[in-house]
Amino acid sequence: MTHHPIRTVLISGASVAGPSLAFWLSRYGFQPTIVERARQLREGGYAVDFRGTSMEALRRMELLDAVKAEATNMGDMYYVDRHDREVATMPAAAFSGELEIMRGDLARILYDATEAGTEYIFGDSIAELTELDAGVEVRFESGMRRSFDLVIGADGLHSNVRTLAFGPEEQFVRDLGLYASIFTVPNRLNLDYSGRLFSAPGTIAGVYSARQNREARALMFFDGDFGDYDYRDFGAQKQFVRQRFAGQGWYVPQILADMEFAPDFYFDTISQVVIERWSRGRVALLGDAAHCASPLSGMGTGMAVVGAYILAHELNASRDDHQVAFTNYQRKLQPFVDASQTLAHKAVGGFVPKGNFGIWMRNLMMKLLPLMPADMVLKEAYAAANAISI
Ligand SMILES: Cc1cc2nc3c(=O)[nH]c(=O)nc-3n(C[C@H](O)[C@H](O)[C@H](O)COP(=O)(O)OP(=O)(O)OC[C@H]3O[C@@H](n4cnc5c(N)ncnc54)[C@H](O)[C@@H]3O)c2cc1C
Repeated sequence: MTHHPIRTVLISGASVAGPSLAFWLSRYGFQPTIVERARQLREGGYAVDFRGTSMEALRRMELLDAVKAEATNMGDMYYVDRHDREVATMPAAAFSGELEIMRGDLARILYDATEAGTEYIFGDSIAELTELDAGVEVRFESGMRRSFDLVIGADGLHSNVRTLAFGPEEQFVRDLGLYASIFTVPNRLNLDYSGRLFSAPGTIAGVYSARQNREARALMFFDGDFGDYDYRDFGAQKQFVRQRFAGQGWYVPQILADMEFAPDFYFDTISQVVIERWSRGRVALLGDAAHCASPLSGMGTGMAVVGAYILAHELNASRDDHQVAFTNYQRKLQPFVDASQTLAHKAVGGFVPKGNFGIWMRNLMMKLLPLMPADMVLKEAYAAANAISI
């Protein structure tokens, strides 16, 4: 089959994966357009981190210094008991990677680096994709219709492009049996580049400082069964969080009270995405949409940036044949994805123990951590983070 060379690429999602891809596509002379459902760039959010190969990807984008300038510089976090006494330390290296930044700050840096060479459309979403011989016809929710040579879904765990091109998400999204809720709260504990975590059977409530200690983020991880939930129904989600943490000690009642006023309440299942082929015809998936490993891997952001680099590189190398480019992209990235997903699977049980014995064991492990050589502790994490070279 002969194809005309690829020129225009529509990307859904302006978080990490989408703008990273646009960055390289415009460098290679393609014309990227990004459509983002949110009305403006989504700021705030939680901390994400880079380690291993993803650091090299940032360096090649010449953005490493910009990201470092906005780094969270978080120190160690502590597990505490109900009286706020420290029972174990979680070393910064274990959860902040080599470089940690708030997701919103990263999205802003990527936007600034791509704005000149990328067409951004905010407050819209793809409503329909029709693949034709020579391209994809796209109808947007706003009613606009346009054609592109390729469409890339970089729209996260609940990817819209994936649903449109591959079918309902139930086939691809696998819950790991935990929920996460994250939101901004006042820094009431006066945390100084640090955080505190409180465990009860099946739950973890925590707070860590953010924005140079000016505010804090609460994070709640918990098991339970919310049933078939609407991931946009904040009222029902907050009710579920309140119910799951009812009657707990420490600062949990205060966190729940602050949750009501949080400007950026986030709630979701902790899930992975597994899909055999990340592309179909002229549509391909990138980042969490293709292979979310869950926040427990600490690798999602790194995979998004590395994946974007590889996908753009392959498209440039096979300008006349997107099938070849898509196939090579997945073949190269898959081992990296597999390593990260395996890492997250292993982390689930130990992270939110189901009973008091499990909590005790976890605390004991954490107490022993500082006695072990750092590279031994982080061996698996670094092996996964370096499971690809670019
Ligand atoms: C609580 C939490 C903590 C995390 N911690 C870490 C960590 O410590 N380290 C780490 O590496 N990773 C972490 N991650 C994972 C990381 O955030 C993701 O892996 C990374 O952001 C993937 O980026 P993405 O661009 O693929 O998707 P996302 O960041 O999910 O972005 C998707 C974008 O698509 C947009 N969108 C959605 N639907 C549509 C639509 N219909 N049309 C247009 N746009 C749409 C969204 O608004 C969003 O901007 C964490 C994730 C969560 C949820």
